[in-house]
Amino acid sequence: MSTPAIENVVIIGTGCAGLTAAIYTARASLNPLVLEGPLPGGQLTTTSEVENFPGFPHGVDGFQLTQNMREQATRFGTRFEQALVKSVDFSSMPRKLDLGDRIILAKAVIIATGASPRMTGIPGEKELYGGKGVTTCATCDGAFYRKMEVAVIGGGDSAAEEALFLTRFASKVYLVHRRDSLRASKIMADRATGHEKIEMVWNAVPVEVQGVKEGAVSGLKVRDVKTNAERVLPVKGIFVAIGHIPNTGPFAPPLEVDEGGYFKPQAGSQVRTNIPGIYVAGDCSDHVYRQAITAAGMGCAAAIEAERWLAEHAG
Ligand code: NAP
Repeated sequence: MSTPAIENVVIIGTGCAGLTAAIYTARASLNPLVLEGPLPGGQLTTTSEVENFPGFPHGVDGFQLTQNMREQATRFGTRFEQALVKSVDFSSMPRKLDLGDRIILAKAVIIATGASPRMTGIPGEKELYGGKGVTTCATCDGAFYRKMEVAVIGGGDSAAEEALFLTRFASKVYLVHRRDSLRASKIMADRATGHEKIEMVWNAVPVEVQGVKEGAVSGLKVRDVKTNAERVLPVKGIFVAIGHIPNTGPFAPPLEVDEGGYFKPQAGSQVRTNIPGIYVAGDCSDHVYRQAITAAGMGCAAAIEAERWLAEHAG
């Protein structure tokens, strides 16, 4: 087998962080290779309108925004490949990325693998996930629930956003939250709690997704955490929006992660890791801000760090 070429910089992930890193490293003539995972474009592609990305006073469609970034990265010479990194060997130079059927060699690596939706783990959820009524993406699946009742589980901005989006289609949206106030920002919380089609189901945890025998969701059983009373919400669709788990598995170790599994950058830097020439950016290492714009900023910082490191250490 012939030895693969040694890449200057490989960027893993095509969300806001990865694509911004690609734009910057491509403009620096580093000819970056971007590895694209199972959700090209990252979480933004599953968002509807992005209202808080600077430069878009009237909002911008999440999918369109990532398409624009991709086009911009391509314009400066970024190459894209579909590949899932299974494991890494960062113990020597060049760094090795193992894809299972082949190895990619790189001088510098920027990991921007994002985070995946957290699931509740209740009975029926797994069986009825994907096309059978349980989903994590209102933008993708909301239109299937025209004139039907649906439930959203969660209390953060995602849950509020999903619930509001679903009011366009559903006859009624139950927003099931385990406490009695939303974690979502005030503007989103006010919009959700004030919407005539949204019924807040406070202090409630999901217990069971019903409909496994029939092969489609027929209801969501929830339990009131204060009274222990159970009730079944007569929904056909269940949208799980309870946060995310960082996609750091194949890289840790050797990279350091915190107790939540997020990459732990070196003190004094948001993007430098415990291994020289290896950088992290976006939701795989940020559990505080988690915004498209902060991910883009980290992608930019990682690209500049990689560029400087390559100039100094790897000719
Ligand atoms: P999040 O803020 O972490 O909220 C997760 C929600 O799920 C919380 O309300 C949490 O309850 C609940 N939860 C967690 N585990 C649960 C379980 N096992 N069972 C039931 N409920 C559970 O996650 P997010 O809403 O995905 O937002 C992530 C970040 O993205 C945030 O920083 C958010 O501001 C940002 N975001 C912004 C926008 C926007 O600005 N347009 C849109 C979406 C997301 P507790 O509240 O009790 O912990």
